[in-house]
Amino acid sequence: MTDLISNAERVAPPPDRAAPREHCASPDRPALRVVRLRKQYAGVTALDEVSFAVGRGEIVGLLGPNGAGKTTTINVILGVLEASSGHVSIDGIDIARSRARALERTNFAAVYASLPGNLTVRQNLHFFGLLYAIDSLAARVEELLEEFDLGRLRDTRCGLLSSGEQTRAALAKALINRPGLLLLDEPTASLDPSAAQLIRAKIKGLAARQRCGILWTSHNMHEVQAVCDRVLLLSRGRVLLEGDPNTLPREHGASSLEELFIRVAREPLAAVPEVAR
Ligand code: ATP
Repeated sequence: MTDLISNAERVAPPPDRAAPREHCASPDRPALRVVRLRKQYAGVTALDEVSFAVGRGEIVGLLGPNGAGKTTTINVILGVLEASSGHVSIDGIDIARSRARALERTNFAAVYASLPGNLTVRQNLHFFGLLYAIDSLAARVEELLEEFDLGRLRDTRCGLLSSGEQTRAALAKALINRPGLLLLDEPTASLDPSAAQLIRAKIKGLAARQRCGILWTSHNMHEVQAVCDRVLLLSRGRVLLEGDPNTLPREHGASSLEELFIRVAREPLAAVPEVAR
């Protein structure tokens, strides 16, 4: 999965510092728009006409049972996988036409995408900062080491970190380019409850402060209710339900998000209302 990092981030080009960017973040454009995305493998439809948007400053939970298509969605957005059909635009930029430019202010972290283990925490942040051509990189690295409480681990090789420490380092790396769109695949899966709570607060603060759109996958429904403004419930490649995680269960006669999730995961597709086709 390190390939996933390197493939996605290799395409982020050095920005042209001399010329002003022709495309500035606009409050009118969503951070992310996905339109009728399909991903077909031989005999498997991993994504079936998936459409949704993530607004600026919005945290959207992408939920679904194992195999629902969450990671496939993230990989298509990052340009690591090519969709069979459909469109993805980041801040209004079509990734099929200008992938490098679209990914300049995008970043991601995933439990399965560990940082190169032979580099120290500081070297990793520095290395990824170079890929994104960050101004005042040394200062940005120090800022993130401090923010994620990684100061005492700065010279430790990432391969030696505990899984929770690796997660903090991966999240620090994900913020190196001050992303306008952040894709987080189970960001708190290996954290203890106290560390997970701190990270959730940080990410929520980031979304509010930097107007960063966040797509967040998690199997922890309590976390989803605490963090997400909106959720999409995916099953077998389709978005079946969408709404506020705190009111959606009641709207569908379930006592909790977990109960609704289990029902959606177990019911045949025909029995569940479909919202986003
Ligand atoms: P999990 O919660 O288990 O991580 P997920 O929602 O992220 O699951 P995906 O990894 O996106 O699910 O997989 C979606 C579907 O696509 C699964 O049925 C998976 O087996 C299938 N799939 C993924 N990659 C391939 C491939 N290269 N060839 C064939 N099928 C694939």
